[in-house]
Amino acid sequence: MRIMSNAHYSDAAVTKLRAIVHTIDQEISHAPPTLRAAWAELVDVLALGPAAQTRECPACHNVGMRAASRCGHCWAALERLPLVSDGTPVQGDA
Ligand SMILES: [Zn+2]
Repeated sequence: MRIMSNAHYSDAAVTKLRAIVHTIDQEISHAPPTLRAAWAELVDVLALGPAAQTRECPACHNVGMRAASRCGHCWAALERLPLVSDGTPVQGDA
């Protein structure tokens, strides 16, 4: 169980933060261990969590939550898709 930080970011900010974290992750592998450790701590404190899984509506191509049973745009019924596992425990069916 991750410790959630008290910080609240907008979805857009979280998406941007994830991209930044990803970029630095790529570059920091050559950095000294002390810097890598500090970075790992920072990422942990940010506690961004996994990216929300999305899907495209086959009818209108609106991108919505993967777990949704209806499109939020055109309200078409969507078939259930299995959530992609990224090693993070998936919440039970809502
Ligand atoms: Zn739709």
